[in-house]
Amino acid sequence: MSRSTSRTALLAALGLITATGATATVIGTAAAGAATPGCRVDYRISSQWNTGFGADVTVTNTGDPVSAWTVEWSFGGDQKVTQGWNAAITQSGAAVTAKNVSYNGTLATGGSTSFGFNGSYGGTNAVPSVFTLNGVVCNGATPPTTPPTTPPTTPPTTPPTTPPTTPPAGTRADNPYAGAKVYVNPEWSAKAAAEPGGTKVANQPTGVWLDRIAAVHGSASSMGLRAHLDEALRQKGGGELVVQLVIYNLPGRDCAALASNGELGPTEIDRYRTQYIDPIAAILGDAKYAGLRIVTTVEIDSLPNLVTNVSGRPTATANCDVMKANGNYVKGVGYALNKLGSIANVYNYVDAGHHGWLGWDDNFGASAELFRTAATAEGSTVANVQGFIVNTANYSALKEDHFTIDDSVNGVSVRQSKWVDWNRYTDELSYAQAMRDKLVAIGFDPKIGMLIDTSRNGWGGTARPAGAGARTDVNTYVDGGRYDRRIHLGNWCNQSGAGLGERPQAAPAAGIDAYVWMKPPGESDGASKEIPNNEGKGFDRMCDPTYTGNARNGNSMSGALPDAPLSGQWFSAQFQQLLKNAHPAL
Ligand code: BGC
Repeated sequence: MSRSTSRTALLAALGLITATGATATVIGTAAAGAATPGCRVDYRISSQWNTGFGADVTVTNTGDPVSAWTVEWSFGGDQKVTQGWNAAITQSGAAVTAKNVSYNGTLATGGSTSFGFNGSYGGTNAVPSVFTLNGVVCNGATPPTTPPTTPPTTPPTTPPTTPPTTPPAGTRADNPYAGAKVYVNPEWSAKAAAEPGGTKVANQPTGVWLDRIAAVHGSASSMGLRAHLDEALRQKGGGELVVQLVIYNLPGRDCAALASNGELGPTEIDRYRTQYIDPIAAILGDAKYAGLRIVTTVEIDSLPNLVTNVSGRPTATANCDVMKANGNYVKGVGYALNKLGSIANVYNYVDAGHHGWLGWDDNFGASAELFRTAATAEGSTVANVQGFIVNTANYSALKEDHFTIDDSVNGVSVRQSKWVDWNRYTDELSYAQAMRDKLVAIGFDPKIGMLIDTSRNGWGGTARPAGAGARTDVNTYVDGGRYDRRIHLGNWCNQSGAGLGERPQAAPAAGIDAYVWMKPPGESDGASKEIPNNEGKGFDRMCDPTYTGNARNGNSMSGALPDAPLSGQWFSAQFQQLLKNAHPAL
């Protein structure tokens, strides 16, 4: 898996540019400091049944403009927020804190924004009486709406965030994960179950990586694509089932990470088309499999390299220059999307990096544009794209709770900390939602959904911070509070200290189709020393724990575990660490 820090980050680190970041910082802190909040909060229970409810909250700012907001209230009963959208909602006892997310922090005078959540309750479900906006009590000019006096005794058939699960025949579901089970790969499951403690997760769904031509056909010792789909039909039974495939065999694969190099040379686009994609499409198009929802995640770690790791950047590699010049990543992705997208039950999700790679201003928009270029290459159209996947096989935390991008310490923005280093995002959820908005803004279907790979971004265990870092200076604050304990955000290989992340689940947050375990936990990211092999895999020193780094990880130590086997092979010590540091804990 290739990762890279940004040119902006590097230049900023060298002190060569400060203007853009400094301006943003001044606006953020000055505006927040000058604001005199006044507000109205409308809290509406939109649905309610025996034990649960949904609520919509609209906040109107009647004071000075703000660039970040926090709305707080306390429940009178035992209500618990279980899932929120359009706000980052946390709860401690009865006290609830809802903070803006990346795209809705700005509220002009008179401006309003809405967020929502689902909750559980027992007894009564009274509307909270006091709300604050940025610490100031709202005046209650619009009294909160009271819930229906006779709540329905059965839950609404369509709970607030769950889209219809069975679309009319011949059309795709908006979110294929909604109302569906997800395929458990028996090969991975057996390896997990054979590990001490592994049965706790062995029944979780993971991605099936078609990482070479031979993987499509299988062998005496490994299941091919048809064997997986036949087993999927068996697991499906009478319900809906998603099968998750990783399309991963581009020519010149991976131009910035030797550990993930593949079997096809940089010019072998024709072999990619005829010996890899066409046979996959022929199998997926078999009418026998028409009842499966087939999710294809298309070409991990390819396109963004053409933005971040090419000449003109200190992070450039010769191979990425070659792949940009010959166009074979773009052609390969376009061909795959077009061919697979013509099959009615296939759902294409394009890889969209992660926040620690594309979260800088000079990478974000340019990558989104390149995704569109690829999605419209080789006869494809954006209609072949049902969504995007982020954090595949990476370690970026899902949500950092103890600091936000809008925080500052002694007037210094979190963006100026060494860890954040001018990035716009602190975590994958905020990045995924912002990237989704960007992609829709440049022409992708407004109904696209995001997947987040949470297989190894849990960062639990005894070293997990329980609260915010000390406000001594911005680095102490960020480093003391962050869950992600990598040495540098650009580190990507077999990370020491990582744990399993959120269990796979459908529709966990606004704009997110699912949390998935696309990278099968326990499979290595790359060998920690040179190991001869016939898969084309090279030795990348980012997998060597003694390596002191390169421009793509800020010349930091690699943070990799020792004694790792080739990428894709079972790495027991890593699996044990992932179990131990799982968050949520197992
Ligand atoms: C490897 C693949 C492997 C996948 C999942 C990638 O890094 O290159 O061979 O299937 O990880 O473990």
